[in-house]
Formats: sequence, C-alpha cells, structure tokens
Amino acid sequence: MWKISNRDAEAIIDDELAKKSLSRYFAVMQNKKTAKFMVAKLLPAEFDENAPIKTLWEEHKKRTEDFYKIENALDTRNESEFPKPKKSYFNLKIEIASKILKKCHFCSRRCRINRSAGEFGYCKCGDTMLVSSIFAHLGEEPELVPSGTIFTIGCTICCRHCQNWAISQWIETGNKCKPLDVAVAIKRLRLSGCKNVNLVGG
Ligand code: SF4
Ligand code: SF4
Repeated sequence: MWKISNRDAEAIIDDELAKKSLSRYFAVMQNKKTAKFMVAKLLPAEFDENAPIKTLWEEHKKRTEDFYKIENALDTRNESEFPKPKKSYFNLKIEIASKILKKCHFCSRRCRINRSAGEFGYCKCGDTMLVSSIFAHLGEEPELVPSGTIFTIGCTICCRHCQNWAISQWIETGNKCKPLDVAVAIKRLRLSGCKNVNLVGG
C-alpha cells in the first residue's frame, strides 16, 4: 500500500498541543475511537417514516441526548457488544434530510422547492451529487493532510472572491455520482492514507 503525506502533516501527529485540542479527531483518525456516524448507526430510534418532519425532529432531539452516552460507552467497549438496532439515529437523520429535500430549507435561502421532484432553487443543486474531482489534498492545515477531498458542483452563496468559482458557479458541470460511488471513493482515499473525508461544495 502507498501513502501520500508531507513532513508537517507527519510531525503534527506527535504535537502535544494538537493532540490535546483535537483529541477525539486524532483518536478516530488512528482507529482508536469510533467515528460519530458509526456511533449514530448503533443508537436506536423510534419513528414512523410518514410522520411529519416536526415529529421526527422531536425524536431527534430526544435521541441526541442519548448520543453522547453511547459515544462515551463506545470509547471503552467494543462496537460488537452493541446490538444493531432495527431503526437507528442515523436512519432518522436520513429520513429528516429526505423530507428537507422535498421542501428545501437546507440553507437560510429556504427556497422551499422539491429537489426530489426535479425542481431547482438558488444553488441549482438537485438530488444527485455532481462531482468535479476526488483527490488527496495536501494543501490543507497539517492536522488534516492528506485530506480525502471531494469537490462537488454548486454553492448556496456567490462570493466575488471565490477561488472555486468554476465549481461553485456551474462553469463546470461535474459527473453524476451515486451514494455507493462516493462511498467507494471515500474508502479508497482512506486506504491510501487520508486522515478524513472533506466534502466541499453543493
Ligand atoms: S439554495 Fe439550495 S440548499 Fe439552499 S434552500 Fe435553496 S435549494 Fe436548498
Ligand atoms: S464556495 Fe465558498 S467562497 Fe465560493 S461562493 Fe461558495 S461560499 Fe463563497
């Protein structure tokens, strides 16, 4: 297996201040603690997919209180000791996100259009990820490098100083990527030595 890195990024692993201020991030990066999305998959949640979004948010609020308990428990116990729930806090988040998409209010523009039905709001993003590039980014802060970066098309803002304008303002069109394609790309980046996944764009 080959690894991409740079000298600053390697030195930061042993930097006491960085280790102290980013202790959980470092532990997850080194496979010593469970990533939050994995914790979310182990936390049971009870909900009806057809319930209104307000009800789903209420359940989300309740489960968020439990999230930190299970996260702490997982720090000292093995994931296999926790039964896989039928419906999890992670599933609940997916359900809420898909309802938001149908009356989009992911950002403060609150376009309220149905992205799942092919409508477009200010950002012109639909319900499929359009990818510009996938690569191990060496230009981020040393704590993050190499960073598994996925640039996607579109943005909810239109800044004059944007250094990624070709991506954020649709000069490029990007390539459609299914969730599984993105997951495979993330796995490859991780196996090549990337410390994280860095999703940038719309
Ligand atoms: S700009 Fe895009 S993300 Fe924001 S509310 Fe409108 S459609 Fe949704
Ligand atoms: S990508 Fe960043 S800088 Fe560019 S338009 Fe969007 S918010 Fe502004």
